Amino acid sequence: MDYADRTPRSRALNEQFQRWMPGGDTRSITWFAPYPAVIDHGAGNELIDADGRSYIDLLNNYTALVHGHAHPLIVQAIAEQAARGTVFPAPHAGQAALAAELARRVPSVERVRFTNSGSEAVMQAIKAARAFTGRPLLVKAKGGYHGSWDQVPLVAGEAGQGTPTELEALVRMVPYNDLDALEALLAAEVGRVAAVLLEPVMGEGVIAADADYLHGVRELTEAHGVLMVLDEVVTFRLATGGRQQVVGVSPDLTTFGKIIGGGLPVGAVGGSERVMSVFDPSRPHHLHHSGTFNGNAVTAAAGMVSLQLLTAAEIERIDGLAAALASGLRDAMAANGLTGQVTRCGSLLHLHFDVEAEPRAFADLALDSPTLERMHLACMEEGLFIAPRGLMNTSTAMNDAVVAEAAERFARAAASVARAGRTTVA
Ligand code: PLP
Repeated sequence: MDYADRTPRSRALNEQFQRWMPGGDTRSITWFAPYPAVIDHGAGNELIDADGRSYIDLLNNYTALVHGHAHPLIVQAIAEQAARGTVFPAPHAGQAALAAELARRVPSVERVRFTNSGSEAVMQAIKAARAFTGRPLLVKAKGGYHGSWDQVPLVAGEAGQGTPTELEALVRMVPYNDLDALEALLAAEVGRVAAVLLEPVMGEGVIAADADYLHGVRELTEAHGVLMVLDEVVTFRLATGGRQQVVGVSPDLTTFGKIIGGGLPVGAVGGSERVMSVFDPSRPHHLHHSGTFNGNAVTAAAGMVSLQLLTAAEIERIDGLAAALASGLRDAMAANGLTGQVTRCGSLLHLHFDVEAEPRAFADLALDSPTLERMHLACMEEGLFIAPRGLMNTSTAMNDAVVAEAAERFARAAASVARAGRTTVA
């Protein structure tokens, strides 16, 4: 039985949904051919689809749900705060508590502004950098993903329809993990660059930046009066103080999202008092930053519990689960003669097919691998929910037994892909 045979209700619902949403979905990244499974509900490490099929959730809403679905303490915090009001046109102690918790965990963060998504956090960070430096250009890594904003396209020249070329001219791309390229660019654009924006681990492919590279970026940006903006929207789950704590680097601004909202919409930008004061509304010519739901009380309450639950011990545990999962995936690939790699950093993992060596930069990725496409559907058939592009992550809702079961399901999926490959070749 293939994917379509197993998910008839999802297929019918997708057809209905197209009546109201373009393509039947409202998030480009969640769509895949022939159609995505429609999710009915989530519980802990499990997703249940509209056909009543259960999946081990190895995606956790693209790393946001570090405690899985419907953690009882987070549900309780949401319910209690919702009963006292969800959002107010005024400051609220819950916002300040979450801001204080971020500052306590991350020494480079002295002041915080909240947004409703990681994309908005990045947007505000770049606006702040431009306001602070008075310079126009943004430098980012080729393949670095920073959300749905047309000034941070994944790769140069591919911002997509609707992006004026004038905007693209404000962004310069450098290869990831390549300090010489950044040095040359900053030397060529002296006095023009406001910020260098980087993920400490590139989400596309889960490629970790070398510590030396990030330290080099810090030195170069300081020397050129450029702000270093570290995007920790995904990587804040890697240590209580984020990836910057592991690497020992101190950026000017950090962007947050995903896990700091406990499963509700969220984003934040934090940094030194000096830079963040551009947002201070009591100052003349401050940077205007508004948003009806910024720092809403329910997100703040859920986010606070999410961070309290994410202790150093829990981070170590989910990193260990991811290491066990990675070795299970590698064994299954080898046993079935599938050429590929599994990259891992902490609790983040990425599958790669049709590559010989471990990817180190965006250019090394095999983005349109047909094997990966088949493997994704085979995983869905076996009850494993992963990103179509091969991203996975572990959550505190998992344990050794769940990871062992996930590895077994993956091995069955790998065997079916290998069988189909042999049939095609024959
Ligand atoms: N930055 C990074 C590194 C991300 O991975 C993402 C989303 O996946 C974003 C920013 C954008 O966050 P959001 O989807 O909440 O807008």
